[in-house]
Amino acid sequence: MNTIDVSKSYEYGEIVPYLVDWYEANARILPWRLEPEPYHVWISEIMLQQTRVEAVRGYYDRFLTALPTIEDLANASEEVLLKLWEGLGYYTRVRNLQKAAKVVVDEYSGSLPASYKELLKLPGIGSYTAGAIASIAYGIPVSAVDGNVLRIAKRLAGSFDDITKASVKKQLEIEFTAITPEDAAGAFNQSLMDLGATICIPNGRPLCEKCPVMHLCMAFKKDLQSQIPVKPKKKGRRIEEKTVFVLEYDGKIVLHKRPGKGLLAGLWELPNIEGKSSIDKIQDMLKLSSVKKEIADIELTSLGEAKHIFSHVEWHMTGFHIKYKDSEQMKRFCGQLMQDYSAVVDNSLLKEDSNLLENYLIIPYEEVIESYALPSAFEGYKIWKNIK
Ligand code: SF4
Repeated sequence: MNTIDVSKSYEYGEIVPYLVDWYEANARILPWRLEPEPYHVWISEIMLQQTRVEAVRGYYDRFLTALPTIEDLANASEEVLLKLWEGLGYYTRVRNLQKAAKVVVDEYSGSLPASYKELLKLPGIGSYTAGAIASIAYGIPVSAVDGNVLRIAKRLAGSFDDITKASVKKQLEIEFTAITPEDAAGAFNQSLMDLGATICIPNGRPLCEKCPVMHLCMAFKKDLQSQIPVKPKKKGRRIEEKTVFVLEYDGKIVLHKRPGKGLLAGLWELPNIEGKSSIDKIQDMLKLSSVKKEIADIELTSLGEAKHIFSHVEWHMTGFHIKYKDSEQMKRFCGQLMQDYSAVVDNSLLKEDSNLLENYLIIPYEEVIESYALPSAFEGYKIWKNIK
């Protein structure tokens, strides 16, 4: 690897007019750019974290149709909120959105503060999001540095700085805030977003011949594009094996609520146990939970294997569909599965004792589809999606 660092004297200010002009002529047409009011910018920026623009479009429209104001967001029920976010992943984002919305309603009369520092105090809003809202919605000249900007800046400067270091990001935030133009703060920051998404791309060779600042780029001049940005190799993900169950009785299935902390905190899921199970093992489990050790009237079908990748963990799953003719038998199996038989109850009983709703639910397919957000980790096992 080339170890010459030519970044020391790089003048970022020179890129500004070229990028602003380029943006004015080539800006991507995105729904949140049509009416860039603070709430819209905020929702779009939070959705766009770790999610592609194309995937966000539909979610964005649906979210704002259901919750058109910050007050609506603050008052939404958890199930509505999670359902609107279903499939986007990283559910902490939407929980923080609501926490912040409540603060905005209580302390700022329902309008996001027009101040970078005040925005930063809100739950889930870091320096990038605060910078994006402040510059795009309020025209405040402040930087919005994310992975895209780090990549572009380090390529421009021909710098081998490790972009995962907080100090590198902090320094760039200071340098980019200093060059953000007062009369085009939003355009400048959005030009960097567009350049990073369409030309100075992260994977594969950047399209330098289309880049408006190619003549100022050290990585281009020295053919270093593939070596920059520098990021240390990530540690390998931990692999967890799981056996997942679709337990069905009379058109209803069992859902389980995950613990309030950790991965997929507080979300509904399909019941599952640690480890990979064979169909023989599941048959043994079914016999154990059956009063007469008789399982002839239970339909057991393998749903095959599925994999889901989280940032630090991979789930390698094996799924089974178990269809019962007798709800008591299903509950006994759940009890064995969850080692908590008493908590597995019928939906009708839940209405009488709402405390029981906390962890387990037996619920019609239609209601799952309409009202419950199941993490996309279970996508391969949502067999009810095909039921008409
Ligand atoms: Fe990125 Fe190439 Fe433009 Fe340099 S010239 S900023 S490497 S796209």
